[in-house]
Amino acid sequence: MAQKGKINVSTENIFPIIKKFLYSDHEIFLRELVSNAVDATQKVQKLAVSGELKQELGNINIDVKVDKEAKTITISDKGIGMTEEEVEKYINQVAFSSAEEFVEKFKNVDGGINIIGHFGLGFYSAFMVSKEVEIITKSYKDAPAVRWVCDGSPEYEMSTAEKTERGTDIILHIADDSIDFADEYKIKGLLNKYCKFLPVPINCGEEEVTEKDAEDKDIKVKKDFIVNNTKPAWSIAPAELKEEDYIRFYHELYPMAEDPLFWIHLNVDFPFKLTGILYFPKLKKTFEVQKNKIQLYSNQVFVTDNVEEIVPEYLMLMQGVLDSPDIPLNVSRSYLQSDGNVKKITSHISKKVADKLGELFKNDRASFESKWESVGLFVKYGMLSDEKFYERAKDFCLYENIENKFFTLEEYKTKTEVLQKDKNNKLILLYTTDKEAQDSYIQIATKKSYDVLSFDNIIDQHFVQHVESKHSDIKFNRVDADTIDKLIEKEETAVSVLSKEEEESLKKHFEETIKLEGVTIELKALSPEDMPITITKNEFMRRMHEMSKMGGGMYSFMGSMPESMNLVVNTNHALASRILKEENKTALINQLFDLALLQQGLLKGSKLTAFIERSVEVL
Ligand code: ADP
Repeated sequence: MAQKGKINVSTENIFPIIKKFLYSDHEIFLRELVSNAVDATQKVQKLAVSGELKQELGNINIDVKVDKEAKTITISDKGIGMTEEEVEKYINQVAFSSAEEFVEKFKNVDGGINIIGHFGLGFYSAFMVSKEVEIITKSYKDAPAVRWVCDGSPEYEMSTAEKTERGTDIILHIADDSIDFADEYKIKGLLNKYCKFLPVPINCGEEEVTEKDAEDKDIKVKKDFIVNNTKPAWSIAPAELKEEDYIRFYHELYPMAEDPLFWIHLNVDFPFKLTGILYFPKLKKTFEVQKNKIQLYSNQVFVTDNVEEIVPEYLMLMQGVLDSPDIPLNVSRSYLQSDGNVKKITSHISKKVADKLGELFKNDRASFESKWESVGLFVKYGMLSDEKFYERAKDFCLYENIENKFFTLEEYKTKTEVLQKDKNNKLILLYTTDKEAQDSYIQIATKKSYDVLSFDNIIDQHFVQHVESKHSDIKFNRVDADTIDKLIEKEETAVSVLSKEEEESLKKHFEETIKLEGVTIELKALSPEDMPITITKNEFMRRMHEMSKMGGGMYSFMGSMPESMNLVVNTNHALASRILKEENKTALINQLFDLALLQQGLLKGSKLTAFIERSVEVL
């Protein structure tokens, strides 16, 4: 005899509200129901182990069946099942009250957008896509099977059922506005997204596989299609895994990717639970922070691949899986960042990553250096954005010079300290951002036995600034910066071959000829072999200018300012003396100035054409 009942809830009909809140996340009903099936199965497995189960455990696979014509989806497990009392308790009371609680909690949240779509709404999420839900369940205990039906209103119907096998079938009668879900292909896709690594085999439909028959001929046979890998690498103890296993799992996650450079297996029990494997991929020079590459799981159930609020941005350059039941999922994203567990988890990951890098550096420096192109980006990004990471990474952060040799900052200081100090005893570390374009300046520097670092990534500009702010004894200067003259000056013993009067007259000629805003003219007694005139740019002004171009807020006032430069005239070069004797001084000075501009890559357009034409004429 069917028994009717009314669930005691204060909200008359909560389902329209649930639907409204979760408009974009209806699909999670499948994850919730399959997770329940997995829980029920794991419970019965435990009972079997402890000897409490008085029957065969048997096959425990979960079945997901789609009947397009009948418009139903059935999720069947062979778990512990429920007795009538249990249905009354867990479904009518517990599940319903948690659904109601959910609605109460989020009723006033704007549009539901702030909700992370992933919460323990559980069984009642079935009503997001169903007009009617049926439960047919038989407990492992010796009790009759139960049928429960509900159309989403607080009224339900409960009766005994025919079912003889242990377990639960949840039958969803799909609502007209959700009819897209009554499709095996679609359901397989969702299972693949949410249930790919659940710990109990999940069967959905069939697949055709090739097998050998008795005469060793290939034949095609239909087999149950198992959706999931029940033992993903991160759930296995690190000691049991080989390098190949990690790489195989990486490709399971990212089938199209190149092999990863290295990985970190996370395995924490206390004070929070966290497992997972983070892979370090090959990064490109022009890196972009990749999104949706790290997947977040909770006990092997997929939660999200949008981990922005959980993982600091620089760690998002990594890929892989994090699994933690301790990350709260039913809260807004902004709340997540301030959550104590989330904070602990991210700082743990950050420390592990730094430890791993430190270990690679210590144990196999050559291999570490060979990966620096990718790893360096990550390390610098991390050092820029996380103080603690800076402290951990500063001893293995490498600096590469133009000869492709690598140094830590301390090693590099030792290498350069004899030659590269300026008047104030500050160590000047020269760098190039473009070996080709700055070649002539590099030549000048190397001729003086100065070392030049290679900083050719967009992040370096910020990185350099950051490192300087931490070390008052060093200063980074691009090879074409004016400080290189100061280094030269310090060493240079040569005296000018020109008299004071001649120097003054030379300077005046230059000033009268080159009347450009932002150009300062400076005379220097360099070696006769050095260039007659060179343009240098003040490091500070150049950086400000570059930042203003990149749209850096506080420097934006610089945007309209002309770039400032120094014109260094070498008084000991033969051409300096020649200018003084030359009749057409303007032409010669202009030609030399154009050459210097050309050296800086600053001569362009019509000015370049005119220069070429003039040069041809002279020849
Ligand atoms: P939660 O799983 O978060 O406890 P649910 O609303 O999903 O909440 O489920 C409520 C309860 O109903 C579960 O705790 C469980 O006791 C019972 N239940 C749900 N699905 C099944 C199932 N397939 N087999 C056995 N019991 C189930």
